Amino acid sequence: MRIETLAVKTGMDPDGTSRAIAPPITLSTTFERGEDGSYPGGFDYSRSGNPNRAVLEAALAALEGGREAVAFPSGMAATFSVIFSLSPGEHVVAADDAYYGTGVLLRDSFAERGIEASFVDMTDLDAVRSAMRPHTRLVWMETPSNPLIRISDIEAIAGIAREGGAISCCDNTWATPLLQRPLDLGVDLVMHSTTKYFGGHSDVTGGAVIVREPGGTLEALRKIQKDGGLVPSPFDAWLTRRGLESLAARMAMHCANAMELARFLDAHPRVERVHYPGLRDDPGHALAARQMSDFGGMLSFNVVGGRDEAFAVAAGVKVIARATSLGGTHSLIEHRASVEGPTTRAPENLLRMSAGLEHIDDLKEDLDRALAAAPADV
Ligand SMILES: *Cc1c(COP(=O)(O)O)cnc(C)c1O
Repeated sequence: MRIETLAVKTGMDPDGTSRAIAPPITLSTTFERGEDGSYPGGFDYSRSGNPNRAVLEAALAALEGGREAVAFPSGMAATFSVIFSLSPGEHVVAADDAYYGTGVLLRDSFAERGIEASFVDMTDLDAVRSAMRPHTRLVWMETPSNPLIRISDIEAIAGIAREGGAISCCDNTWATPLLQRPLDLGVDLVMHSTTKYFGGHSDVTGGAVIVREPGGTLEALRKIQKDGGLVPSPFDAWLTRRGLESLAARMAMHCANAMELARFLDAHPRVERVHYPGLRDDPGHALAARQMSDFGGMLSFNVVGGRDEAFAVAAGVKVIARATSLGGTHSLIEHRASVEGPTTRAPENLLRMSAGLEHIDDLKEDLDRALAAAPADV
């Protein structure tokens, strides 16, 4: 089956007794044991397993083309679990523009527990190569990246990891398997914040790791999920599984709207520069065209001027919402530098946008109004 069909059908067989097409939400924390001591329904206790979580995990594994998926209550819980599966003394090579929280977790929590990390520009393969150490165990990539929407070469980085005896993990939150398939490119693990495009409606927090092959890492992740109690609630799993059903349709429109917005902003006199790999002169364009089937729903742009001018543009929008996060139906705009704080790598005149599912003309008119209202004497 094709990915669009998998997104609708995987794990969604009609419910046994009611024949309901949409699955019921199973809230029970405990499940009946047979007279022989077995668990005929396949579940014993809700921390170890739940039908809604099982359905979600089956669908996530199918979409990424992996062996199994392990669902977590947030993207950060998924990232935490991958790093927690390492041992003290082991080393991580991570993208210097990985999700802000990933860097914070590595620097603040894991470094003091003996798992060290080196942060490198992953668009530079030589930099990745030279960051590898004998005890490097994990290479963490993320593409397209935040906030400059840079593209790194998944297949090449996975190869460098393998040569160095490390596993590779790709944060595929922004692209989703509709646009990019890291496991097919040789990556070992795919991580997702399902809070974003998978849930798709800005109403559920979640995360997952999809594993290409059975083995030690999968077992370790299952153990962390169960022993650490890092489990999504049945309703959260249900909402996320529901979001997947419309993922393909939504991604097509997110991408189309982002492409149009990028072109519009690129031609606007108040905009200094647009970062979107769909633009032909974007530094990531050629690589993105090769490794992605479309260019994604995220873009960012530098307003002519500085922080005040960027704030003025964000203040002027009425259709687009001023909020963090991405991947939902509502278009969002955000000044990353002020959200990330003093250690940010985001330029002060940069605004990041998540293209939503509103009509493109309403979005363009909204930005046009906001840009026109921004201070002119810059
Ligand atoms: C949001 C996000 C995360 C963190 O996920 P949460 O669900 O907020 O914990 C990680 N990586 C990327 C790329 C994200 O966008």
